[in-house]
Amino acid sequence: MQQDPARAAPPFVGAPLPTLATEATPACNACGGGDIQIFYQVKDVPAHSCLMCATREEALAFPRGDIELAFCRGCGFIGNARFDAGLHRYSPAYEETQAFSPRFLKFLDELWDDQIERFGLGPGMTALEIGCGKGEFLVGLCERSGCAGIGVDPGYRPERTRTSAAERIRFIRDFYGPKYAHLHADYVCCRHTLEHIEPVLEFVRLVRETIGERRHANVLFELPDMERVLEQGAFWDVYYEHCSYFTRGSLARLFRAASFDLRRLYKVYDDQYLMLEAQPAAQPTDALLPQEDDLAHTASLIAGFEKKVGDRLGSLGEIFARCRASGRRLAIWGSGSKCVSLISSLGLSRDLGAGTIAVVDINPHKHGKFLAGSGFEIVPPDALRALRPDVVLVMNTIYTDEIRRDLASRSLHPELIAL
Ligand SMILES: [Zn+2]
Repeated sequence: MQQDPARAAPPFVGAPLPTLATEATPACNACGGGDIQIFYQVKDVPAHSCLMCATREEALAFPRGDIELAFCRGCGFIGNARFDAGLHRYSPAYEETQAFSPRFLKFLDELWDDQIERFGLGPGMTALEIGCGKGEFLVGLCERSGCAGIGVDPGYRPERTRTSAAERIRFIRDFYGPKYAHLHADYVCCRHTLEHIEPVLEFVRLVRETIGERRHANVLFELPDMERVLEQGAFWDVYYEHCSYFTRGSLARLFRAASFDLRRLYKVYDDQYLMLEAQPAAQPTDALLPQEDDLAHTASLIAGFEKKVGDRLGSLGEIFARCRASGRRLAIWGSGSKCVSLISSLGLSRDLGAGTIAVVDINPHKHGKFLAGSGFEIVPPDALRALRPDVVLVMNTIYTDEIRRDLASRSLHPELIAL
């Protein structure tokens, strides 16, 4: 395996959290409480799912870890009790962007307009994006509003950014941590990052410290919604990269404990993403929004999760088995984390080389690379012209229409099965 300079650096480096519980019952990373219930386990999964492997050998030898989802009865936070940040290697080889999907771009378009209008972003103001990835969101925000921007992310790739706002935007290729507490901003956003961070309370407190006395500053956090995952038994949305999972209530409690006042708490993108808008407060704040009161509901979902996952695994396993038995060609559309999780959960790696399965992605930066764990090669949609799949498994139902159009434009009309 190639040496990676980012090896062993955890996503967030800070002072250790106080340990309030014994070794047998780890303390909750969100509230410090010790009333923890383990409710879901998966062994030996790839430690990364969006890191691109250059060779099949590298993909097959990829570091693995275990998942043990732990539910805190005190605050509702869910975390992977077996998480080891040392297995992670966030670097420019990390390929998380969804910005090649028209559906996703429409979502970004609406989010830019909404945030600029709601928070009055404009010239003379600064937006800070923590975990900015390849920078698409920050660049769009700065271009449209005229504000300045600072983006922090170890996976940032300067050659991917082309913008008329370049003079106003600074990118820092690093993990966000205490050494960046001096960065001042009027607007702080953090999208799809908190779920990769283990010491979540420490992290949100650092964001609060960064804002300091700039009480007018607004904060937006966006992350996957765990309530939907629990309701649907969507086990493919549980993977090693995500060590922290939130519902609206547990996210609200975290921010209130870190001295934020909540303005909005809602779901978007077919209810897949959780959005929290907050402003700094002088001290921890009390729950005010009705949607924060979800602890009992989450506990009931936890109780039924394993059964739902079992049902899902059974029906998906049948689809693959039927295709194999009847000689139908099956392709998986979407090579992101959901796909890696699905493949490892169903043990599909043994089919490698059989020629019946292709993993397709529209992101050209992924083509010719290999999926961590299983070693499947990721191919462009055009490769399906030769493969002529009978069935396409759509990893995210929100993209079904655009995938159907894409296939039809290549004169392909397979059966589409959306997760
Ligand atoms: Zn807790």
